[in-house]
Amino acid sequence: MLGGGQLGRMFGMAARRCGYRIAVYGDPADSPCGQISDLSFPGAFTDHEALARFAQSVSVVTYEQENIPVSTVEFLQNFVPVFPGPQLLKASQNRLLEKTSLRNIGIPTADFLRITSAEDLIQGLAAFGGAGILKTVTMGYDGKGQAKIKETDDCHAIWKDFGVSEAILERLVDFQFELSIVASRFSDDSCHFFTPALNHHVNHILDVSISPCPEISARHTKEANLIAREILEHFDVRGVLCVEFFATRDGHLLVNEIAPRPHNSGHLTIEACHSSQFEQQFRAVCGLPSGDVTPRSPAVMINLLGEHLLNVTPERWSSVFAMTDVYVHMYGKAEARIGRKMGHITVLAGDCQTAEQRAREARRRLGFSGP
Ligand code: AMP
Repeated sequence: MLGGGQLGRMFGMAARRCGYRIAVYGDPADSPCGQISDLSFPGAFTDHEALARFAQSVSVVTYEQENIPVSTVEFLQNFVPVFPGPQLLKASQNRLLEKTSLRNIGIPTADFLRITSAEDLIQGLAAFGGAGILKTVTMGYDGKGQAKIKETDDCHAIWKDFGVSEAILERLVDFQFELSIVASRFSDDSCHFFTPALNHHVNHILDVSISPCPEISARHTKEANLIAREILEHFDVRGVLCVEFFATRDGHLLVNEIAPRPHNSGHLTIEACHSSQFEQQFRAVCGLPSGDVTPRSPAVMINLLGEHLLNVTPERWSSVFAMTDVYVHMYGKAEARIGRKMGHITVLAGDCQTAEQRAREARRRLGFSGP
């Protein structure tokens, strides 16, 4: 596993259940994934000697975050198979390349323009009806490196503040809701799709995922599956990806972002599905067949960020552990910070409204006073 975060940890826990041994490269031994791994290689992604030692100790490599240099994956491929390969990784690291690649294969996204100066920005905003979202091309996630701007804002100051030579301006999408789909592709080229999740964000960070969700129509699901399949096939993915969408008011989908790995919105598959997104990942990269991805139950996942845990006490934890059909996941991070993903809770229930109420209740029981 390249990267030692919580996605690597949950992948490792799924794979270990089936007897696999895990080696993690890139983060310290006490990282979320390092804690559950057999071997840790805390090296830099550019350290070829350390990478070679790591590669020689494993049978197959996968990754849990998209900021791994493409050159690292290409180097490792000299020693060992790496899934998914570099194609999708490369596209998902660069918003312009990602959106251009999608547009070239006929997949709808928000309108976008390449921006390299304040003048481009002023012209772009005019073209998009006076408002837009300016985003850095690389290293953006959870709303970082982006700003909602209007024509009346000081575009020269904003551009200077951004401090980059290239950015992307997107038309502001007036969406009905946001949804995502996690999909996987196997060595026999078969593709498998989890039921899409409806996602609520707070401060641009995922807060709650709901699946299955009545707002997501059969047509949305069909369109999401179709788009996910095209992306899996176009980028020749073997492994798991997530596609995030905006559902427009006229019932269509626009792709917002692609992640070449399992996703926060798919965590509920651990309890809700026979084979979770992490089990699909190790099945795909280890050459096993797909598992069953149909949901057993409606499920809701609620994130636990640093700010949700400011008032926790052992008694408060106990009151959550006393709830039934409530599954607590903590990632083993030593320091809680505002906006940092510390863990999540998944709730299963007969319907998603009840599951959402109980998930929010669980988070309040931990001492969080918000919704
Ligand atoms: P991103 O980092 O691109 O995934 O954006 C984070 C969040 O910002 C998304 O989940 C949306 O809620 C919002 N957002 C991003 N791009 C747009 C857009 N073009 N129009 C409207 N909202 C957006």
